[in-house]
Amino acid sequence: VKRSGSADKPKGPGAPPRVLRVALPVPLPQSFDYLAGTADGALPGCRVRVPFGSGERIGIVTGPGGPADGPAVLKPVHEVLDREPVFDSELWRTLSWAAAYYHFPLGEVLNAALPAPLRAGEPWPTLEEPGLAITAAGRDAFAAKPLRAGPGRDVLAALEAGPMPTSALRQQLGRGGSAAMRRLLQRGWIGATSLPPSRPARPVLAGPPLHPEQQAVITAIEGCAEGYSGHLLEGITGSGKTEVYLRLIDAALERGRQALVLVPEIALTPQTLRRFRERLAAPVLPLHSGLGERERARAWAQARSGQPCVVLGTRSAIFTPLPRAGLIVVDEEHDGSYKQGDGFRYHARDLALVRGKALDVPVLLGSATPSLETLALAAEGRLRHHRLIERRGLAKPPLLRLLDLRNQRLVGGLAPTAVQALRDTLARGEQALVFRNRRGFAPALGCAQCGHVWECPRCDRPYTLHRQPPGLICHHCGGRARMPSSCPSCSSTALGGRGLGTERIEAELAEVFPKQRILRIDRDSMRAAGRLDATLAEIETGGPAILVGTQLLAKGHDWPALSLVVIADADSGLLSPDFRAPEHLAQLLTQVAGRAGRGDRPGTVLVQTRQPQHPFWSRWLGGGYRAVADAELRERREGGLPPFQHQALLAAEARDPRALDVFFAAVMALPGEREGVGLIGPLPAPMPRRAGHHRRQLLLECTTRAPLHRLLSGWMPRLYALPQARRVRWSLDVDPLDL
Ligand code: ADP
Ligand code: ZN
Ligand code: ZN
Repeated sequence: VKRSGSADKPKGPGAPPRVLRVALPVPLPQSFDYLAGTADGALPGCRVRVPFGSGERIGIVTGPGGPADGPAVLKPVHEVLDREPVFDSELWRTLSWAAAYYHFPLGEVLNAALPAPLRAGEPWPTLEEPGLAITAAGRDAFAAKPLRAGPGRDVLAALEAGPMPTSALRQQLGRGGSAAMRRLLQRGWIGATSLPPSRPARPVLAGPPLHPEQQAVITAIEGCAEGYSGHLLEGITGSGKTEVYLRLIDAALERGRQALVLVPEIALTPQTLRRFRERLAAPVLPLHSGLGERERARAWAQARSGQPCVVLGTRSAIFTPLPRAGLIVVDEEHDGSYKQGDGFRYHARDLALVRGKALDVPVLLGSATPSLETLALAAEGRLRHHRLIERRGLAKPPLLRLLDLRNQRLVGGLAPTAVQALRDTLARGEQALVFRNRRGFAPALGCAQCGHVWECPRCDRPYTLHRQPPGLICHHCGGRARMPSSCPSCSSTALGGRGLGTERIEAELAEVFPKQRILRIDRDSMRAAGRLDATLAEIETGGPAILVGTQLLAKGHDWPALSLVVIADADSGLLSPDFRAPEHLAQLLTQVAGRAGRGDRPGTVLVQTRQPQHPFWSRWLGGGYRAVADAELRERREGGLPPFQHQALLAAEARDPRALDVFFAAVMALPGEREGVGLIGPLPAPMPRRAGHHRRQLLLECTTRAPLHRLLSGWMPRLYALPQARRVRWSLDVDPLDL
């Protein structure tokens, strides 16, 4: 392979024109060659603007291209956008590895890793932060006139001490701050400026003295030899895992290093960010989809510059460059949000381990309920397993009780025992949480006369009934239908909701507890911006309340007044055909149960079921999450399922089912070494139709990775080239979580 450094060789008149190979964000497996032209010196990893089809694309130079067949065939690069590669060498290697491992086009992988403005070809962001400074006129005005108290004076008072980042000032001033800033800017009393990236000065808050358990974990991790080491920190909610992360991050910062902390999508709350900022003497850079794209790009660039910082982000933050990395933490490593569900289907936790090895730094996976994949790695000795057994402070583990729902008169879906427990909790001035993982009023609308159920015609699944606003919504495709007035098959007008959603539980509990505060927390009620934060803040201030919510409520929060949790319905997890359902149910139940009793009283958790004799319950009640996990691991080993089996899922969908027949027939006829690889299917997907598309899938599995990946490497380029693949939407998911 020619080195890109060869650009400075003299070019004689007879020398062939130089050619660059460029990865483009297009769904094709190969990279593309362009005449270098003026882009002659472009290094691998730099962005270029190139012609593609009838338009232009932003691509990434991967190296020199093949010999040019002549200028008529190859088009020239239009523009080079970077002098330095956007990815550092480690990230470049890791992303190339990921493209090969996930069998996904390199151009799309690189594109997914870049913040949107860089993807769009914008210049590299400056590290400077936009800020405001007081002008001479402003200073005079502030000194001369006694200004009326208000946001205007607050702005001037804050800037008197020195320029500040606009975002920090806005945060400090709250409502009315922005308007005041605009007025003062117009008057010329303050002016825009740019500031070096913020670096909080000590003092930061000191943490509590470590518990010996925590100290032991920290000593063990820090005692590992320099370089990569993998760790699982298993500890129940409230056992002090975050405290351990903070100490290890602090130590990394002390050594002038950077740290990356991944958290689940819904756990990156202002509280989490505040806790990290209060404790760490370096910029804590949040990276998540809610952030403005510019801000995201700036955080990315700041990390790329190598200065000590902590990147605190959700899934895609795994692609942040960390040239001076010291530590990677994945909190709640079992969380499903670490898996990207479409496009480039990577798993951020798995990539964290890969990056830890590439960066040669420790990786710490933390969870109260580790995934079976991670437990298996620990059992094989590939991760060191540390445990935190006790809860910190006075909090005690909750009391768990099963409530048999059979032959009971239910109110709001709750058994009389649960209703009484709610009443007692409220009477003590405490808070209770009713957990139900179905939003809407009822999961289906049915006719009481003939049993007809309204289904989404595009998904063949029942519509969810909503009351506010009234209507039928398909939770699979988002399709809507008007509320019918009568049954199409028997004309009866006796129509009613089947089953319970959070909206209905809220409504029925409001009748039983008319004077009590009931807060519903799900995606519908929390749609408005800021609503979730405001509600969480209200819960935090205490006072009796019933919270009704979906898994939006399950994790990351610390509510001392919450002493009762009722799991309204646990059975869907027990009855699901998904082999991961018991694992996920045990994780969810344990997380939700962890919400109860974080103050000085033990909490109570009531679990309602119609399957009290199911072996799952004796395991969970008797031995907690680990008893379920151990039993599941045994069953998975015996059943030849992951993590003892490696899988890949080739899925396809099309409006016309015949296109699927033809596509999969062509796939099955592809040549390739199949020795050792099991092929299951093609079969209808668990949801055979969605949004009007028929869906089918082929599962490939193997007890070791190599034969599976060999087969896929042989198949993939041919798959892209199949004419039969053009009439379907197909995708490959390596290590799928949803089958
Ligand atoms: P986790 O991340 O496991 O849920 P946290 O680190 O958030 O646990 O700790 C739970 C609570 O206990 C927090 O309020 C934290 O400040 C407190 N805590 C953690 N470690 C200690 C300690 N060694 N001494 C006193 N309080 C602690
Ligand atoms: Zn009917
Ligand atoms: Zn639908």
